[in-house]
Amino acid sequence: MSQQGYVATPPYSQAQAGIGGYNTGFGNPPPQSHYGVYGSPPQAYSTAPTGVLKPPASPAGMPPPPTSSQYGAQIQQNGAHGYQHPPVGSAPSMSPYGQPPQTAYQSMAQAPPPTQHMTNQMRAMTQAPPPAQQLTNQMSGMNIAGYGQRPMHAPQSPSSAAAPQPYQTPQPPAMGHPPMSPLGQQPPSMGSPTPMGMAGPPGPGVPLGGSVHHQALGPQSYPQQPGPFGGQMAGPQMTGPQTGAFPGGFTGGPSQMAGPPQKKLDPDSIPSTTQVSEDDQARRGGQVYATNVRGQVPPLVTTNFTVQDQGNASPRFMRCTTYSFPCTADLAKQCKVPLAAVIKPFATLPQNETPLYIVNHGEVGPIRCNRCKAYMCPYMQFIDGGRRYQCAFCSCVNEVPAQYFQHLDHMGRRMDLYERPELSLGSYEFIATLDYCRNNKPPNPPAYIFMIDVSYTNIKSGLVRLICQELKTLLDRLPKEEGADSSVIKVGFVTYNKILHFYNVKSALAQPQMMVVSDVAEMFVPLLDGFLVNFNESRAVINNLLDQIPDMFAETNESETVFAPVIQAGVEALKAAECSGKLFIFHSSMPTAEAPGKLKNRDDRKLVGTEKEKTLFQSQRGVYEQLVKDCVAQGCCVDLFLFPNQYVDMATMGDVPSHTGGSVYKYSNFQVDVDGRHFLNDLRRDVEKSIGFDAIMRVRTGTGFRATDFFGTVYMNNTTDVEMAAVDCDNAVTVEFKHDDTLSEESGAVMQCALLYTTVSGQRRLRIHNLSLNCTSQLSELYKSCETDALINFFAKSAYQAMLSQPMKTVREILVNQTAHMLACYRKNCASPSAASQLILPDAMKVFPVYMNSLLKTPSLVGSGDLSTDERAFFRLMVMAMGVEETQILLYPRLIPLHNMDVSSESIPQALRCSEERLSETGVFLLENGLFMFLWLGQACPPDLIQNLFNVPSLGHLTTEGQTSLPALDNPHSRKLHSIISSISQQRAKSMKLLIVKQKDRGETLFRQHLVEDKGLHGGASYMDFLCFVHREIRQLLT
Ligand SMILES: [Zn+2]
Repeated sequence: MSQQGYVATPPYSQAQAGIGGYNTGFGNPPPQSHYGVYGSPPQAYSTAPTGVLKPPASPAGMPPPPTSSQYGAQIQQNGAHGYQHPPVGSAPSMSPYGQPPQTAYQSMAQAPPPTQHMTNQMRAMTQAPPPAQQLTNQMSGMNIAGYGQRPMHAPQSPSSAAAPQPYQTPQPPAMGHPPMSPLGQQPPSMGSPTPMGMAGPPGPGVPLGGSVHHQALGPQSYPQQPGPFGGQMAGPQMTGPQTGAFPGGFTGGPSQMAGPPQKKLDPDSIPSTTQVSEDDQARRGGQVYATNVRGQVPPLVTTNFTVQDQGNASPRFMRCTTYSFPCTADLAKQCKVPLAAVIKPFATLPQNETPLYIVNHGEVGPIRCNRCKAYMCPYMQFIDGGRRYQCAFCSCVNEVPAQYFQHLDHMGRRMDLYERPELSLGSYEFIATLDYCRNNKPPNPPAYIFMIDVSYTNIKSGLVRLICQELKTLLDRLPKEEGADSSVIKVGFVTYNKILHFYNVKSALAQPQMMVVSDVAEMFVPLLDGFLVNFNESRAVINNLLDQIPDMFAETNESETVFAPVIQAGVEALKAAECSGKLFIFHSSMPTAEAPGKLKNRDDRKLVGTEKEKTLFQSQRGVYEQLVKDCVAQGCCVDLFLFPNQYVDMATMGDVPSHTGGSVYKYSNFQVDVDGRHFLNDLRRDVEKSIGFDAIMRVRTGTGFRATDFFGTVYMNNTTDVEMAAVDCDNAVTVEFKHDDTLSEESGAVMQCALLYTTVSGQRRLRIHNLSLNCTSQLSELYKSCETDALINFFAKSAYQAMLSQPMKTVREILVNQTAHMLACYRKNCASPSAASQLILPDAMKVFPVYMNSLLKTPSLVGSGDLSTDERAFFRLMVMAMGVEETQILLYPRLIPLHNMDVSSESIPQALRCSEERLSETGVFLLENGLFMFLWLGQACPPDLIQNLFNVPSLGHLTTEGQTSLPALDNPHSRKLHSIISSISQQRAKSMKLLIVKQKDRGETLFRQHLVEDKGLHGGASYMDFLCFVHREIRQLLT
């Protein structure tokens, strides 16, 4: 195999940084940004030092050993502040770094247009156009120094300074993964290969566990036949990458997939995802995972474990595709394993893990490297008796500010190491100074604006009444600062169809007042005072309003709606109030009314399978592109709840949410009694969830590599600053890294994710996540340290990004190609010699093919004209925001047998492989993938079980059509099932609609789509066929 002949980088990985091709910015950032630099000393910064205590007397000069159980005591107490905090403003008089005065944010508020008050009456207002809206430039750049400003002569770090000692502490062997010594070199065969005799006799490799068996298969049975991938299956005589053959399996749909029946391998012989999860749970489940070891591979996302932060960010915040980066770009090219991190900066921590500590350095703000602006972290190396420190990211030697000085111990560590979160923990927060705020002013608390489409459809379906009812209680549960009595988030209300109605809900009013804006072309907010209010203060007026809205529009026959002006109105309202916030838009139909952002039906399924298929997923630019910029500039996140009965141009309507850290929810053909609960669960969770606003994220890396691409619901105005109008506990950003130099095994690869944001109470903070990885020149080390779940997250998001600009066929080819290459490279360089006919997979990636095949079969990528365009676009938007847990369960759903469950046990029955073969007529199964939950009832399932679960004597008596809830009955089976469902639901980011399907019923099709080991209903191979195909590709590559 010629490596040279196959080193082309996938085209889409070379795409310009930035999302969706927005290359035109809205002006360059000012030369001196407010974010991320030391400015002139701030004046009287009044933010309360939350959660920071005086440090108790610590054993002077005797920091505990790195693996000290000092953390252990607190880790079990929720939120226990046992940590020895640094004093408030521990360095209050530290002289700031001199910086020229900062450019102020442009004034955000415009003089409001005149307002008119009209109580409970709809009347069109003729209004002079508002003053020209001035765009507020979003300051960008948490950092001034860019990459490429590396020191010409980086000071040589003393050998003892290669990496802080604590992070090389050997990990207890019980954790399963021995620490990867940076210098350790494993023999090539150490990757625990998983050989599988797909053809030919078993080789010398040692199969792992019980799930993999050698399977001898005569060579002639190998797909000479036009089997799995249709007649276009590449023949053995073909040379070079054979991926051209693969897509044939998709475009033709199911008919083309059907070949002559193939000789079956034992399905148990191919690697099993459920087995891998169970093994990891058995090995590492219930354990404490301490993050003190560099390059340590964390337990799988499916495993229950407790994290103890000892210097690296918890895997709940950051996971990587591999924890051993290749030292050189050549090695990276050779193996084609993407180098990426999936970052979920606001991930929810379980009750028994310590929340992030908050560090307050007072007026001087956080300590940062002078050159690269990295924040103080455990990787910084203190030298010169503690007077200076060397930056772990750019090697610059910095003076330690006088107030921050501390003596070093005999190991060269600061005496106060364990008293300062920023010196000993992977994740923590800094209170940001005014330099990090717009206009050098503390931000106002954010606002939530509820914008309800009151057109005919939404009124008639009862949706408007449902929303209004729910808001009356939901507004009591707005997010609040930890320890605060109540939320300070302000709320506002808008209803709309072709025109917009704003409401004055000032507490002093006896009745809410409505103001109408009918000139939707020039959107403005007709009132300032009384629009955004505190719910507690205005409770009576708001409840009054929510009671009146459904009746006010009860007789409407208006079916046309506007959409872009609604978002515009929300942004204008936040602008006027000088705050960030979130819009909750409840919308039903494609906006066809005459207004900016009017859309037309462009759902042309004839484009599927053509070069132009991508246009179906591209947003209509113009108005929406500008709206994205306006929203991001204002810190205005948009959440869209859509209730469509037909095509709505999801790709365009979802454009603003998907670039502002927002979410899109879709409830097709919404019926209150069927979908109401599902929708309300989503709404509640969304309103309550922890969130940060007006966020900007920067990922810094050590020398030798850098972040090049970002995938998520983010906006990029340049190549480094990830802007998010809001970021919540479910948002994950996937970051790809590329080499720009050689990495050293000694110093490893360090990264720091810094997120500047505004809290729910209006405090400006910096959240820091640090992670250190190993670097290796041994491919076997790299493969051993891979994480399949993170890899598939990367591939899903990068492919879903690429499908906007490239033919679907190309995207699929790249995925298959890269899969074969990664595995072929392992086979060639790391596995022990064995027959070419044997498929050998790296242990850490042995289930990668099943995930990849599942990804190829997702609605967005499968390229079938049978699927709704909106559904495909919607799926794409959802995945772009997902973290590793979400993509894992999405691409390999959990199939749980219920008919033989132990009702006395607390645990959830062990999952089965997602294949029809695992179902049985006499069984009952639950399947969940994070979006849907199915209860599948076999034709011959036991009547007593049906009785216990549904309170009907037999399956025949059960109507499943439209049934989305289970009765709660007083018997062990019913209780157990409800407990399983509730336990699963708590783990998931979104509410899952429960669908009850009987075997052979019409509704079964949707269920079967999720049996990902089987052939796809809309095209796509079975797992077995895909594995055979990949094996064939590997063999081609190796010859
Ligand atoms: Zn630096």
